[in-house]
Amino acid sequence: MATEKVTVPGVTSPVTDAHVHVQPWGQLLPQAKSLLRAGRADLEEIDRLFRDPEAFLEHIEGQGIRRAALINYVAPEVMGFTEEVNDFISTFCKGRTDRLIPFGGVEPRRDKGQVADSMDRIVGDLGIRGIKLHPPHQLYAANAYSNGEVSGLATVYEKAQEAGIPVMIHTGTSVFPGARSRLGDPMAADDIAVDFRDLKIILAHGGRPIWMETCFFLVRRHPNVYLDISSLPPKRLLDYFPRLEKIASKVLFGTDWPAPGVEGIAKNLEEFRALPLGDEAKTEILSRAAESVFGPAA
Ligand SMILES: [Zn+2]
Repeated sequence: MATEKVTVPGVTSPVTDAHVHVQPWGQLLPQAKSLLRAGRADLEEIDRLFRDPEAFLEHIEGQGIRRAALINYVAPEVMGFTEEVNDFISTFCKGRTDRLIPFGGVEPRRDKGQVADSMDRIVGDLGIRGIKLHPPHQLYAANAYSNGEVSGLATVYEKAQEAGIPVMIHTGTSVFPGARSRLGDPMAADDIAVDFRDLKIILAHGGRPIWMETCFFLVRRHPNVYLDISSLPPKRLLDYFPRLEKIASKVLFGTDWPAPGVEGIAKNLEEFRALPLGDEAKTEILSRAAESVFGPAA
């Protein structure tokens, strides 16, 4: 495996992809699985890489990526994902956490003690380094603790804040069967940022395709709110966020590979590099914003 750092012209730091889905596809419900696999030309490759972390590291290195956050979450009703995702991704990343950042989650619709135990287990025992929430797939809003509907969510945020690990929240719509896009409204994160001031929050997908202005506002409003640009076609990024450069220090590059519509990591990276943004902004987005959330890359 290559050990030298990958750089791109005009950008000297190693690139972090903050949003890659290495997930246990064996847990997926049939309808979710067919949507994920439909029309992909690289299925065999994906199946191979998901079984072999060393091959995966080599693959991303070849795509221009030094470090990747591997995003998992719990969403039994819509996706079939249970807390076992944490065991899967912990094993996958074990001994490789200088380059792989395991994201996981817990089921918060239980009493607070159980949620606290789960958080202690996944963070303390399994080494999970980020929590992902997917409200449209989980069927409750990210701020559902505030009205008492899912009070265990407050425990999730408290524990993440205490451990100093970020919480990533899916913002925007979803096309998976049974997904409730209404719950993708990023404004729910405003409550979290106010109530958990030291918690780093990443708004995944920048609210695409209908809540970009809300995300832009939240990133500027709250010192600990970031966004990732995953699943936004890079070519259209500046249509979605015309003032992206203003918030570049809090924007994380990400691809969402291999989600539907995302062909490959290298293609996204290349298209991003071709955007009419300054080198400084590109470096912030490709490397430095991730460093302020996850620490320096290896
Ligand atoms: Zn995603």
